[in-house]
Amino acid sequence: MQDRSDAVHPLDAADPLSRKRAAFELPAGVIYLDGNSLGPLPAHVPERLAGVVRAQWGQSLIRAWNDHDWIDLPRRVGDRIARLVGAASGTVVAGDSTSVNLFKVLAAALALRPGRTVILSDTGNFPTDLYMAQGLRDLLARGHELRVVAPEEVAGALGPDVAVLMLTEVDYRTGRRHDMAALTRAAHVAGALAVWDLAHSAGALPVDLAGAGADFAVGCGYKYLNGGPGAPAFLYVAPRHQAEAVQPLAGWMGHEAPFAFDLDYRPAAGADRMRVGTPPILSLAALDAALDVFDDVDMAALRARSISLCELFRTEVEARCPGLVLASPRDPQARGSQVSFRFADGYALMQALIERGVIGDFRAPDIVRFGFAPLYVSHADVLAAVDILADILDTRAWDAPRFKIRAKVT
Ligand SMILES: *Cc1c(COP(=O)(O)O)cnc(C)c1O
Repeated sequence: MQDRSDAVHPLDAADPLSRKRAAFELPAGVIYLDGNSLGPLPAHVPERLAGVVRAQWGQSLIRAWNDHDWIDLPRRVGDRIARLVGAASGTVVAGDSTSVNLFKVLAAALALRPGRTVILSDTGNFPTDLYMAQGLRDLLARGHELRVVAPEEVAGALGPDVAVLMLTEVDYRTGRRHDMAALTRAAHVAGALAVWDLAHSAGALPVDLAGAGADFAVGCGYKYLNGGPGAPAFLYVAPRHQAEAVQPLAGWMGHEAPFAFDLDYRPAAGADRMRVGTPPILSLAALDAALDVFDDVDMAALRARSISLCELFRTEVEARCPGLVLASPRDPQARGSQVSFRFADGYALMQALIERGVIGDFRAPDIVRFGFAPLYVSHADVLAAVDILADILDTRAWDAPRFKIRAKVT
């Protein structure tokens, strides 16, 4: 079979974003379609991180908190993410994990809607979001209920008992995308607040938190933002809530004056009150450096390339791989930056693909998932990946015992 991965596709030749691939360190022989799980290493990050380690930690020691302004790094990184998600400066802070951030903003949102008891979410949400809501519900022990409906039933389930609508914009399995502006509007009409998870949106498509009127949001640093494994996540607090929103993880870094060492907690002004403990400076520095890649990226152009890549993949797979059933919406506007297919032996199929250098992932029970991060995936990659996928299916190469041994992480 001819290897097409080195041929230049006309759609790549015409697109200035194709040049961004050089900003990443990708292993030879790999077509990486899993940036929605772990973004690749931006080439300049190791050197930048080594500088933070040697020059800042090594030489400045404790002085670096002031001399290199480590103390405000969560807000500086937050401001850079804010630009990518349509938020004003001072409304986003980086830190903690998506799960922990969700806990904080959900608690703050529920406290702003006393007398209402329902957290409304959907079956397309990522389990950790639902788990955190269950944990908070049980901890509060004030009669809250987590109501989980089908994604298409969300709008109809809004009512006078709903305190918070808690959704992930892009479904991690299928890529189905909610209409953030419309659902936020509907939530507000019903008197509820809207909390959005942007884990599969930030860095993948244009997001307009302010324009949509979102109340709170959270998102992930290690997926499309390429911040590295376990990178700090981020959270957003709408300006109108910043004076009143209070979260329960009342750590000293969210205090109005951490170095006054008062015995009583007083929340800091603005989104800083959502901070908890000492920020992980090395991880934040890696995320900060990784965000450089986005500095000159127009998110509308990024979205256009994402749709072009996803549509090329979808149409080629549907034409050449009849055993796969599309799990994603057919309409590109109704999807994020991924395309998923159902296949009964999806786990084995994905293992076979990975062995041939096409890295996507598998989500139970039967979904093979392919993410198309437009900054480093090319149209040539898409065609080369489909060649390999079609060959594996035609030859049933996936049907080998070694592909059926489940690893801990899928
Ligand atoms: C990836 C993802 C998370 C991950 O949360 P962590 O706390 O970083 O493990 C949370 N929510 C959604 C919707 C995700 O896709």
